[in-house]
Amino acid sequence: MVIRSKTLRLVILISTVLITLIIAIQLIWLQKVYLYEEKQFNINVSKSIRSLYTEMELVNDATDNVQKVIENVNPDVYLLKIDCSPNLDELWINLKAELTDFDVYTDCRASIYDPVLNKYTTEEYVNLPDAYFPSEKEQDLPVYLRDYAYIALYFPHRGQYILKQMLFWIASSGLLLVVLIGFGISIFYLYRQKFYYETQKDFVNNFTHEFKTPLAVIKIASDVLKQKNIVEKPDKLNNYAAIINEQTSHLQSQVQRLLEIAYTDRSHLPLEKENFDANELIKESINDLQPLIEQKNAVVNTNFSTPIADIKADKAYLRLCLINLIENAIKYAVEPAIDIDTYQQGNNFCVRVKDNGIGIANEHQKKIFDRFYRITEGELHSSKGFGLGLNFVKKVIDTHGGKIEVESEPGKGSTFTIGIPRS
Ligand code: ADP
Repeated sequence: MVIRSKTLRLVILISTVLITLIIAIQLIWLQKVYLYEEKQFNINVSKSIRSLYTEMELVNDATDNVQKVIENVNPDVYLLKIDCSPNLDELWINLKAELTDFDVYTDCRASIYDPVLNKYTTEEYVNLPDAYFPSEKEQDLPVYLRDYAYIALYFPHRGQYILKQMLFWIASSGLLLVVLIGFGISIFYLYRQKFYYETQKDFVNNFTHEFKTPLAVIKIASDVLKQKNIVEKPDKLNNYAAIINEQTSHLQSQVQRLLEIAYTDRSHLPLEKENFDANELIKESINDLQPLIEQKNAVVNTNFSTPIADIKADKAYLRLCLINLIENAIKYAVEPAIDIDTYQQGNNFCVRVKDNGIGIANEHQKKIFDRFYRITEGELHSSKGFGLGLNFVKKVIDTHGGKIEVESEPGKGSTFTIGIPRS
């Protein structure tokens, strides 16, 4: 699971980076197109103005460099120096003609500035084909103080006009963006689907593994019951019969839950929380493992911090966790001596299972919680397992909002600590 969710995160990360990169390139590209269109607009307006100067004698020395008499005070406003009062009708007609000749299809407000009165004396709205209608909200053109007369050409909708020229690029970028988002969403759903499916499969695998312990316990108990002289030891007989009985009902309830889970779509562990005494549950778990304890001559000591430990959790799952930890402590030790302590840490109820087994090297300590992870070196693989137990324990503890930790030194032993919220 850990490996898979890592791959999933990596795929999502790479896709996000790629999509961001493509979007960034698109934006840079759009900005370049905007700058290009803006430059094109300026060139066209300059060309129209130059042509207007040639057409009409607006300055005394027409040979003078026209660029000198044009001032682009802000992107929307051009000031055209004039030395004489032009014929207005002619001026507007020519202006309109020049602008259309050079493909400037946006409206323009032309005003004539009088340096003596220091204001605009005449104003004309040059409406060009394809232009925007003047709106009430439009701001008045500010007066630019100069000591000469000029014609101010103001293009109020220059920005929109340039954007309109870019419509094709904007639309294609938008389309690409939609495609990318659609692509991203599909990948996400595809992986989520796969993730759910895998989680459920893992869970069923884990659960199946959990059937092994009760079955093994029943097997050992029934072997004991088969002994010839067992009738002479009624206490032992009763005890083992009770173990078989308890394990059978435990198995029945697990089968029920397994079926429920197998038929639900839910990817997480559905918890069925109830109030119970955790100390009692620890004792029951040890009792469940009694045949194994006897078989390996294990010594199990308990040290409860309080006589009763009331908690609210999923009892069946927690029991499986405890069984797993204690079973491992027995399995991975030659002469097992196990200490089980409980303590309270903040709102968490903690159980510490300490063994004197073969221990776990540092590099394996994180990985043992991964699915199917087993340490394959050394002679320890006399003990059988699927590498699913600790993965299941971690999942149960995580789902409860708790935590699991391991401390271990090879050759000396391991300590597994689980902590879950009391409610
Ligand atoms: P399994 O016991 O079925 O192999 P687990 O998930 O319970 O699977 O454990 C994973 C691995 O972690 C084991 O194969 C074992 O190598 C190691 N391990 C777990 N508990 C202990 C322990 N108490 N002492 C030493 N090694 C352990």
